[in-house]
Amino acid sequence: MIRVGMGYDLHRLVSGRPLVLGGVHIPFDKGEDGHSDGDVLLHAIADSLLGASGLGDIGSFFPPSEPRWKDADSRMLLSEIWQQVHGNGWNIENIDAVIALETPKFLPWRDAVCASIATVLGISPEQIFVKAKTGEGCDAVGQGEAVAVWATCLLSRPD
Ligand code: MG
Repeated sequence: MIRVGMGYDLHRLVSGRPLVLGGVHIPFDKGEDGHSDGDVLLHAIADSLLGASGLGDIGSFFPPSEPRWKDADSRMLLSEIWQQVHGNGWNIENIDAVIALETPKFLPWRDAVCASIATVLGISPEQIFVKAKTGEGCDAVGQGEAVAVWATCLLSRPD
């Protein structure tokens, strides 16, 4: 059996927070606002895995109302979610994601980000692809006020 999943997330970009994408700190003068570390890429990937497996969504696993998830490392959140999904017999075929980010440039960080995500999930970096688009100066992304991510995954499970 194969199942496709989709995840989406958006975080405001604010001063005084680190920009974290896929568990990698990217030097920038703003970062994601959020209850956890705000890693918008890992949040979208987590929701794609949960959507494909039908096990819920990231908010049901890690409610933002819980004080213990304050500034939590999202690699830990994704790892716990993947343990649940994998425990239900699912394997990852591939993950694909699009980051909507006006600045800074993402391309120099792509290989490190894919490697970081692969480490969290215990898969090969070749099973992950991440690309970035700007907002062309339009909307909150284009104005540099937010970063958004769309992620898809394909899961397989022996019939
Ligand atoms: Mg989020």
